[in-house]
Amino acid sequence: MSTVAERLNDIQQQITDACRRAARNPEEVTIVAVTKSVGPERAREVVDSGIVHLGENRNEGLDLKQSAIGSDARWHFIGSLQSRKVRDVIGRIDFLHSLDRKSLAKEIQKRAERPVDCFVQVNVSGEASKSGVSPDEAEDFIRMLGAYDKIRVVGLMTMAPNTDDEEVIRSTFRGLRELRDEISSLGLPHAPCTELSMGMSNDFGIAVEEGATFVRIGTAIVGYESGERS
Ligand SMILES: *Cc1c(COP(=O)(O)O)cnc(C)c1O
Repeated sequence: MSTVAERLNDIQQQITDACRRAARNPEEVTIVAVTKSVGPERAREVVDSGIVHLGENRNEGLDLKQSAIGSDARWHFIGSLQSRKVRDVIGRIDFLHSLDRKSLAKEIQKRAERPVDCFVQVNVSGEASKSGVSPDEAEDFIRMLGAYDKIRVVGLMTMAPNTDDEEVIRSTFRGLRELRDEISSLGLPHAPCTELSMGMSNDFGIAVEEGATFVRIGTAIVGYESGERS
């Protein structure tokens, strides 16, 4: 059975290969290890293997892992965030990957003590089950965010459909990249929008080929909590 360090090595190699295919520099790609499904010990193992960026999708998970790891990591909130949870979460994360509505922006403005680096989540594939603003709404939404000085739009985030059809996945990621290029070219001071948060365990190679700068990888790094190692 493989260890976290072995799996990470393998993933880093796959990222390097994908970068070579796309003529990109692997240093442009940051791995966010999603530790939401494992405990603090496994998360500590990830940090000890050299990963600095950790992703969580619940306040409780953040609590648990921050008490074990603290400032050795940078913290990414990756899931949908309920407005009433903003108060608990916003002061202790470095990046929010799921800004998708004005009410959430308002709440962040009210609760944050310093500007928060946010990704605007975009529903590129248009699936009803996915959150995010539609690509058509994205520019207006991001312009509107200029009213909130606690929000800095560092980039866009999306999730590809859960399918084996590589072309569907690829066109989702490509769509996000094209939107990112349009928005960053607007030169909005509050929205440099240079980053692309896309790619998970099953599709990060395609995402890197299409320009991902942050990949959010869970199970391929951390495995499952029990059963695989004793
Ligand atoms: C859980 C999760 C991931 C990681 O998923 P894996 O398939 O385990 O790599 C990435 N992004 C978001 C938004 C998630 O909720």
